[in-house]
Amino acid sequence: MEQLHDATGFDAYGAIAKRKDAAPSKTKVNVKQIRSNIVGKPADSRIVRHLMTALAVLSVLGGVNAMAAQPVANPSGSAPDIRLYTLDCGLTEFKDADVFSDTGEYEGKPLALPTPCYLIQHGQQWLLWDTGLSDKIAAQPNGVLEKFGGRFTVKRTLAAQLAQLKLKPSDVHYVGLSHLHFDHAGNIALFPTSTFLVAAAEVTAAHAKPTPFGIDLAQIAPLAKAKVTAVDEDYDVFGDGTVKMLKTPGHTRGHRSLIVKLPKSGILLITGDLYHTRQNYEKGLVPHLNDRADTLASMERFAKIKTNTNARVIIQHAPEDFAAMPAFPKYLD
Ligand SMILES: [Zn+2]
Repeated sequence: MEQLHDATGFDAYGAIAKRKDAAPSKTKVNVKQIRSNIVGKPADSRIVRHLMTALAVLSVLGGVNAMAAQPVANPSGSAPDIRLYTLDCGLTEFKDADVFSDTGEYEGKPLALPTPCYLIQHGQQWLLWDTGLSDKIAAQPNGVLEKFGGRFTVKRTLAAQLAQLKLKPSDVHYVGLSHLHFDHAGNIALFPTSTFLVAAAEVTAAHAKPTPFGIDLAQIAPLAKAKVTAVDEDYDVFGDGTVKMLKTPGHTRGHRSLIVKLPKSGILLITGDLYHTRQNYEKGLVPHLNDRADTLASMERFAKIKTNTNARVIIQHAPEDFAAMPAFPKYLD
């Protein structure tokens, strides 16, 4: 296989060749099914044996060391209050954004992408969707130029924004990760007591050798000691259908998007990095580093879900979409 990485394990953002090793995940463990077995049925020895085997497989998948039980949804029977806050978790700027399409639309052109995180209140529980760029970058007002080939700036830390809502990181029950790239995984270390929701395939792929582009192993190392629910299919976070992680591989092996049903604002489809810009969304552009076939299949799925749910699409990195959300601490409900 051709060498895709420099001696540090990373290459400049613009110089990434198409990934050649992107076989679909071989993992067949259906975690959701296992979980419904745990919470829904009395354990018989067959189920227990099945579970033990599945857990053994999962534990091999690089750092996945625990599964949290699915919460009992909505025990009172009343509809939970759901709010969605959009947090500013940094800015990524590229002088040459060629990597964001493999058909040349961005060649030689600059691109600035906001990197939001989304905080979702579901009754008494909180889910953070993605963790943004590292809060450590905030110490450098002009940002940092990093090994991933761009300039990264954090004006306001994630911790400070949580504090504005009088929340500590330990108040965040779940941290869902669209994928493990540095601009989504930057603050994993901030949440040692939270349960992380991430695709098993994503964790496995991130630990491949050589280290894949966009992965900072130090950033994701805390997952090895954290509570992790390794999801392998779609995942219903609160068990009541209001917030679901959707399987949309292609940008990375275990990539996920998020669908959120808000009581007043309707249904939101939050892309993760299935799309990076409005142009990519409208024209179906595929970044160089993606698995092209997987990405197109995920885009097709996403489009059908959008049509069927009449959802509002939020492209996480699109400046227009970030600007259109209520400015924190305002929220959608
Ligand atoms: Zn990203």
